[in-house]
Order: sequence, then structure tokens, then C-alpha cells
Amino acid sequence: GEVRGRPGIEDLPVYVQGKSAPDAVKLSSNENPYPPLGPVLDVVREEAARINRYPDMGAVELRGRIAAHHGVRADEIAVGTGSVEVAQQLVNASAGPGDEVVFAWRSFEAYPILVRIAGATPVMVPLAPDERHDLDAMAAAITPRTRLVLICTPNNPTGAVVRTEEFERFLAAVPRDVLVVVDEAYVHFDRDPDSIDGVDLFRRHPNVAVLHTFSKAYGLAGLRVGYAIAPERIATNLRRVAVPFGVSGLAQAAAAASLDAESALAERVDLVVSERARVLAAVRDRGWRPVESSGNFVWLRTGARTDAVGEALRGGGVLVRAFSGEGLRITIGTPEMNERLLAALPSA
Ligand code: PMP
Repeated sequence: GEVRGRPGIEDLPVYVQGKSAPDAVKLSSNENPYPPLGPVLDVVREEAARINRYPDMGAVELRGRIAAHHGVRADEIAVGTGSVEVAQQLVNASAGPGDEVVFAWRSFEAYPILVRIAGATPVMVPLAPDERHDLDAMAAAITPRTRLVLICTPNNPTGAVVRTEEFERFLAAVPRDVLVVVDEAYVHFDRDPDSIDGVDLFRRHPNVAVLHTFSKAYGLAGLRVGYAIAPERIATNLRRVAVPFGVSGLAQAAAAASLDAESALAERVDLVVSERARVLAAVRDRGWRPVESSGNFVWLRTGARTDAVGEALRGGGVLVRAFSGEGLRITIGTPEMNERLLAALPSA
């Protein structure tokens, strides 16, 4: 015979990274367009003197800082190498072969991959026509095999949010032994007053967990650190399935320093939010009909023209995320980057 993976493994797609090129404006990965803050870089440089040692596996200081930031207990925090790894921990700790994980589609690309790696079954519930989660359909998709529900709000790639009232109604229909994870990777960019507040829901419901990241508003995508706020028993399980020493000392130190730098970071987030409004308005002027976005990106339903519009943008030196036949997800950049985007964007 021949060496090969376990049955089914070769059917899994490899996660595809947003495109980049040396002279192009990269609006393909929902990154923070601004360089790291000086004080954060200083802390990383200091920490670099200790990279001959393993990091603190328990991330005790960082977890304490995150807990204080949210007003929860450190035992309710679990960290990982980006929130994508924390999402994987949540899946691995909750679901295995024969179990089902319910989430909306289209949503974050990694969800179906993580579920299938765990050997569990993804149950993908189409978004409503207005690009929002169809929570009634998601509740109806729950079976005795369901172990986990993933709710992405603001949703990647559509930017739509889940509202408090509809979410409370949804939760009332979810069995108490099913964990509902609210992935709030983009929460800092959300200005919708009706959006759910994941941390508040975590406090009020025993089966809700929240996923946050330092990759977006905090601008640390390259250092890979994210966290869950989860019931203590779940948080402990996440530590059981985590890769030992996954979160580097550099990442832990930078994340803590970023919590200290919140007001400087918030200014950048505000800039992105105002640029989002400007880009949405300009895009609508070109005849496109994007829905409102609460993320640091906008979603254009380009349909059959997706590849052609993506090509036109690339020709103008701008790289975005194309979902062939469906749409383009365009990250909001600095004002200069957004100018290049608008200069290259064809009309609808
Ligand atoms: N959740 C969502 C909804 C995302 O869009 C992303 C990044 N694309 C992640 C989680 C993971 O980000 P990270 O691993 O960098 O924290």
C-alpha cells in the first residue's frame, strides 16, 4: 500500500488565505490596515529576549487581564493561537463522530473545516435573503445530535448582525445542553444599537460562550492570539484540547499591551468605521446594493460577475476576497487604500 491520511481527510479543503502581492493594496483578509503601536512593539521586543524559554502555558497574566477587562473570572477564559484555534478547541471539546454542529452559511470559511476535522457533521443553514442569520431555520435544524451552534455576528463575509430580541427567542428554543458560541471577531466595528452583546449573554445564560480575537481591532493578526469566554467547565475543557504552549510569549505580551492601548486602538477602529460608511456610499453610487455592514469589510453580491470584478480590482492593484459566483468581500483599509479601491471598482 501507500501512506495516506485517515478516511475522508483528503476530501477536506485546505484553508485558503486572502491573496497578497508586493505592490497591491491588500483588502482580502479583514486585517487592521495600521501598523503596530509603538508601545506594543516595545513590549514584543522586550519579550523577544526570553524566546529561549517556553511561554506560560496557562497564560495566567493575560487571562487575568482579559477577565478583568470583561468583568468575568479568569477561570472562564481560554486562549488559543488566534480565535480560529479557540473555535477548533470549542468544536473538539463539544462534538465528535455522529454529532452535529449547526451554523449559518455563508459564514466564516473555517467552520465547516473545523467540524469535519473533528469527525462531526456540519449542518449549514442558509442565510436569509437580507444576508442575516435565519435563526428560526437554525432552531429548526437542531436535533438530538446537535452539540454546538456557531453564531457569527457581525457575520463574515456579509457584515450583518444578530439582534438581541431574535437571539433571546432563539436561545429559548435551544436545549440547555447545546453550547451556543457567539463569534464576535468583528464586534469592535459594530455600531448597531440592536446587536447582541455576547459577554452580557454569557453572563445570563449557562450555555453561551463568546469568541474574541486580537487579530482585528487590536491589530495583532500576525501574532495569533484569541480567546473564549465560556462557562468554567467548558473553558477547562478547552485547555484540555489546546495545543500545549500554542500561544507564544510574544503573543501573550502583545495582547496584554494592546489591552493597555485600547484608546489609541479605538481611534483607529473609529476611522475604519467612518471609512466603511464612505466606501458603502461610494459603492452604492456605482449601482451596487450592499447591505449595511457592522464589520471592517463590506460584501458585494457580484454573482456571476464576481471573478470579472475581482480581476478588474486586481488590475487596479487591489486584492479582495472573491467567492466565485457569489460575491466579493472587501476589507476597509486606510483612506488611501480605499481610494485605490474606489478608483478600480467597476459599476454594477
Ligand atoms: N472568526 C471570524 C468570524 C473570522 O472572520 C476570523 C478571521 N478571518 C476568525 C474568527 C479568526 O481570526 P483569528 O484566528 O486571527 O483570531
